[in-house]
Amino acid sequence: MGDLATHPKLLIVDDDPYSIHLLANIFNGDYEIVFATDGKKALELALQDKPDLILLDVVMPEMSGYDVCKELKGNPITFKIPIIFVTAHSDTAEEIRGLEIGAADYITKPFCPAIVKIRVKNQIALKQLQENLTKLAITDGLTGISNRRCFDQHLLSQWNHALRAKKPLAVAMLDVDWFKKYNDYYGHLMGDECLKQIANILINSCNRNIDFVARYGGEEFAMILPETQTPLVLMTKLFHSLESLAIPHGMSEFGQVTLSVGVSMRIPTYNENPSALVLEADEALYTAKHQGRNQAVLYQASYWVDFNAVKTAS
Ligand code: GH3
Ligand code: MG
Ligand code: MG
Repeated sequence: MGDLATHPKLLIVDDDPYSIHLLANIFNGDYEIVFATDGKKALELALQDKPDLILLDVVMPEMSGYDVCKELKGNPITFKIPIIFVTAHSDTAEEIRGLEIGAADYITKPFCPAIVKIRVKNQIALKQLQENLTKLAITDGLTGISNRRCFDQHLLSQWNHALRAKKPLAVAMLDVDWFKKYNDYYGHLMGDECLKQIANILINSCNRNIDFVARYGGEEFAMILPETQTPLVLMTKLFHSLESLAIPHGMSEFGQVTLSVGVSMRIPTYNENPSALVLEADEALYTAKHQGRNQAVLYQASYWVDFNAVKTAS
């Protein structure tokens, strides 16, 4: 994919090199251009180069533009790329057919360069808007990290992955201690700043890019930690970072902002679902609160492991 905002990438597909030349001239300078002279090559480039838009000729030997379009729309990797048909067909039935199989627009030859340019620009703007909306839908507005919706999606996909790979998966639920008092004492805006700082610490504590952090809601965060047998090691690191940052909390017995954490982990099985991990992590979090806060507790089916031992030993 090109940089959608400044330099989008166009794939131009036409069996006639002169047509490619004409179209490429319209976009030179403003767009990054790749081209293909047959359908098979076009499919290859669409997968490999991830263009932001495809200008697709309809009549080509071997594979028609319609067939290329159908394949692109049927593939989860390419189905979002807008396609504009460029064709010498000018009858309505053909245009309807093109739009029905998923094309964003339909341009007939001979074309007016200025109009082609505007139509492409419009589709690129739409794509950008769509991408921004998709990003907004999975981002927490205050902290900029993933939100609850994204957490749920990610947990399901990581659960399925761990299930197939027979690998362990851990979930941590993290809740700020005495945060209502923090807000009451320092004000809501300072409370917001505090949540942003905590989000940063959580993100920075994950040095494996498979670890995932989200704001679960309010002053509660959640982490998904795949393929680890030792989720408490990460918690130790996190507690130390938070202790070093030392955000003052005059209304807490600890004198600074702290977290309570509940962790649950297991190798997924077919007769369970991922919400079991969240429920167990929640239960462990509840225990961490009741045992005095500022600690992490690992849920185990029949007994609790007190994280204080791990914390003081490290
Ligand atoms: P505990 O140690 O038992 O977790 O106590 P707590 O005070 O942290 O828990 P409680 O659930 O009573 O209060 C949570 C507080 O978090 C209340 C709410 O105003 C605050 N909060 C939730 N979301 C936000 C937010 O986005 N910004 C700010 N500033 N505060 C928030
Ligand atoms: Mg709290
Ligand atoms: Mg809470």
